[in-house]
Amino acid sequence: MALPEPHFEAPIDPLPEPVTKRCDPSEQEGPRALRALLLAEEGGRDLGIVRDCGGQQATSDHHAGAAFDWGQRADRPAEAASVDRVLEWLTATREGVAAAYARRMGLRYWIWDGRIWTHAKGWQPYSGASAHRDHVHFSFSDDGAAGRSTWYTAPRSSGRGIGRALPAVAVVVLAYAALRRR
Ligand SMILES: [Zn+2]
Repeated sequence: MALPEPHFEAPIDPLPEPVTKRCDPSEQEGPRALRALLLAEEGGRDLGIVRDCGGQQATSDHHAGAAFDWGQRADRPAEAASVDRVLEWLTATREGVAAAYARRMGLRYWIWDGRIWTHAKGWQPYSGASAHRDHVHFSFSDDGAAGRSTWYTAPRSSGRGIGRALPAVAVVVLAYAALRRR
């Protein structure tokens, strides 16, 4: 497993707010990024980000492209263990803040194996039509879905993304400076 462990140089985001319900079935940046990360580092299946409203009123965060369904099966031990790993990674206390990465991603809740997790209540029984035993449903806030939360915008002092890109930029700048001195 190689889930990133970045440290952020910005205060933690406020608790994520519900997404604005709307019929706009285009994939947003936050769910796309989470999908890419999970499929690359943990495997599992892409069960989609968007659902069409079908002419009805928007009810699901999928209708706004603000949710991701990660296909993993609760009855397969290796897949269930993978989900446990990811959810522990999202809910871990970092720099004194509970569920720090979930907050920085603007992840509002997820549903898995007959239970729903929220920032306010942690795990609770889930009584919806689907028990979600063949996928994890992740729902984002508007900011998280749009890639405006600190997971996407804040400087990182280690880990992937900006933190890893900075040394490469420094090498290019130093090489250019060396060329100019000739
Ligand atoms: Zn879903």
